[in-house]
Amino acid sequence: MTLAEMTSASTSPAVGSETGGTLVIDLEAIEANWRTLASLALPAQCAAVVKADAYGMGLEPVASRLAAAGCHTFFVADIAEARRLRARINDATIYVLNGIMAEGAAPFAEVNARPVINSMTELAEWDAFVAAQKWQGGAALHVDTGMNRLGITAEEAAALAPRVKIENHGVALLISHLACAELTDHPLNAGQIRLFRDLRMLYAGVPASLANSSGVFLGSAAHFDLARPGAALYGINPTPSRPNPLRSVLELTGRILQVRNVDQGETVGYDAAWTAKRPSRLAVVALGYADGLLRSASATDRGRGGGAAIIAGKRCPFAGRVSMDLVCIDVTDLPQGSVRRGDSATLIGERIPIDEVAASAGTIGYEILTGIGRRCHRIYRGA
Ligand SMILES: *Cc1c(COP(=O)(O)O)cnc(C)c1O
Repeated sequence: MTLAEMTSASTSPAVGSETGGTLVIDLEAIEANWRTLASLALPAQCAAVVKADAYGMGLEPVASRLAAAGCHTFFVADIAEARRLRARINDATIYVLNGIMAEGAAPFAEVNARPVINSMTELAEWDAFVAAQKWQGGAALHVDTGMNRLGITAEEAAALAPRVKIENHGVALLISHLACAELTDHPLNAGQIRLFRDLRMLYAGVPASLANSSGVFLGSAAHFDLARPGAALYGINPTPSRPNPLRSVLELTGRILQVRNVDQGETVGYDAAWTAKRPSRLAVVALGYADGLLRSASATDRGRGGGAAIIAGKRCPFAGRVSMDLVCIDVTDLPQGSVRRGDSATLIGERIPIDEVAASAGTIGYEILTGIGRRCHRIYRGA
C-alpha cells in the first residue's frame, strides 16, 4: 500500500484539500531511518542534520519526532533555523554550520546554540565574545581536510591545538566534512579520514565528527564520536551503487485535472517540444515546477526521456515540458477508463524513489527534496 492510500483510508488527501498537489511526509519512517543510522554508527553517537527546513520536510515536526526518539544533537545552517529549533526543543545541543556571521556572536548565547567555527577570524571573534561574556555554551571547530569550502586549514589546526587545550576556547567538538563519501572507492575518503584522525590526536579529550550520511557507510574508521547524517534520514540512498538500505519517507501526488486525446503528429506543451508518435491519451496533472518538479525532467523529442508518474498502478512517462503548474503524462498504454478526472498521480513515492526522480532531472535527490512541495497540501504521518 502506498502512503497516500494508507492516508486516504481515513481522510483522503485529494478530496480534503484545495491544492493540486499533496505531500505526505512519514515521520515514522524518518525516525526508523535515524535508528538505522544510529545503530550502524555505534558506539559513536548519532546527530541529525535538519538544515534547510529539514531538507524541505519541515524543521519542527522532524526535529520533534527525532528528539522524542532520543536524538540529542542537531545541525542547522544558520541562526534563524537554530532559533526555530530552540523554540521547539529545550534541551538539544544545536550546532550552526554557517558559523559566526559578520554581525557577531551574540545570537549564539541568546539562542543557546553553538557556532561551527570555520575560520581563524571567526575563532578570534568567538574568543573575544567568550572572554567578555563568560559564555560557556561551547562551539565546534571545523577543520578542512580536502573539501576546500569552509574550515581552518590542517596547519592552522595543528598550530592551534596546544592553545585549545590550555585556554579551551569552549571547543566542544572537532569536525571535518567528506567531499565524496558516496563514492566508496574515491581516494579522497581515505586521505581525509587519515588526516582527520591525525589532527584529532592533537585535540585529546575533544569529541570528533566526520561522517555525513554516506560517511556512516564507509566503515568504523569514518565514525569517530558523532555521526551527522542528513540526506539518508529523508530516504536518499547514501550508497548509490547498492540498494537503498533506508525507508522511503515522502509521497508526492498530484490531481488529474483532465484526460484528453491527441492525434498522431500533434505536439504537446510549450515549445511544441514533444510530438505524439501515435494517437495518444494524456493525463494533465496539477503539479509543475512551482511545486519542485524540475523543468529539466521534461520529455522532449530530442532530449532525454524525462520523468514519469505512477497512475492506476502503472508507470507512465511525461509528455512535453513541465510547466509551472502542470505536467502532462502519457497514459496511452493504460486500459481505457482506468484513469479519470480527479484521480491522483504519484510523482515521488515508494515505487518512484527520490533518487530516480533526481536522475531523470539530471540532478541529485538533495536538490529535489529541498525544492519540493512548497504549495502542496502537507500531511504528516506520525506527528
Ligand atoms: C549538510 C551537511 C551534512 C549532512 O550531509 P548529508 O550528505 O545530507 O548526510 C553533514 N555535515 C555538513 C558540514 C553538512 O554541510
